[in-house]
Amino acid sequence: MKNVCVYCGSRKPLDIEIRSLAMQLGEQIALKKWAIVYGGGKVGMMGLIADASLSNNGEVIGVIPTHLKRAEVAHTGLTKLHETQDMHTRKALMESLSDAFVVLPGGFGTLDEFFEILTWRQLGIHNKPIILVNINGYFDGLELFTKKAVSEDFIKEEGLELFQIAHSLEECIEMLEQ
Ligand code: AMP
Repeated sequence: MKNVCVYCGSRKPLDIEIRSLAMQLGEQIALKKWAIVYGGGKVGMMGLIADASLSNNGEVIGVIPTHLKRAEVAHTGLTKLHETQDMHTRKALMESLSDAFVVLPGGFGTLDEFFEILTWRQLGIHNKPIILVNINGYFDGLELFTKKAVSEDFIKEEGLELFQIAHSLEECIEMLEQ
């Protein structure tokens, strides 16, 4: 059993392909008999992925801070819902419960989670795979930015090896299988 942490938006995007990516990923992870670790919400991309996995008999573990239970509408049908006292504890628990991290499109919260898990790997706090799913060009700007940061030598060339970029669901699943 592999625990896959999924970071994604607490809102639903306009692009239906991005919505469907969340649902397909939830379904695929369940079919592989892997568990999902995620933010525990019922809304947005988070809700889509959790529901898709649950309806395929998948195991879904949510981690939500008490103060966000209402704002992010805590999912009541999960296999397990951990409640934490704050955001820092949430992120640390999500990291320790997981074997790999997948970043789907999202907003500031998702980017915060991506950069945090990435910098934790850069610092040697963990050595688990991180996969950024760049679908329909959503993260093109981020890819461009990292290249700029490397060209300025703010990020070492090897720094780009700290995470992988998948451009489709299939690529993401292949990366997880490895
Ligand atoms: P968003 O991508 O902004 O919709 O947020 C996605 C998830 O990231 C939500 O579950 C937020 O609670 C979470 N998140 C993690 N860290 C932060 C942060 N520093 N600020 C806002 N949201 C955060």
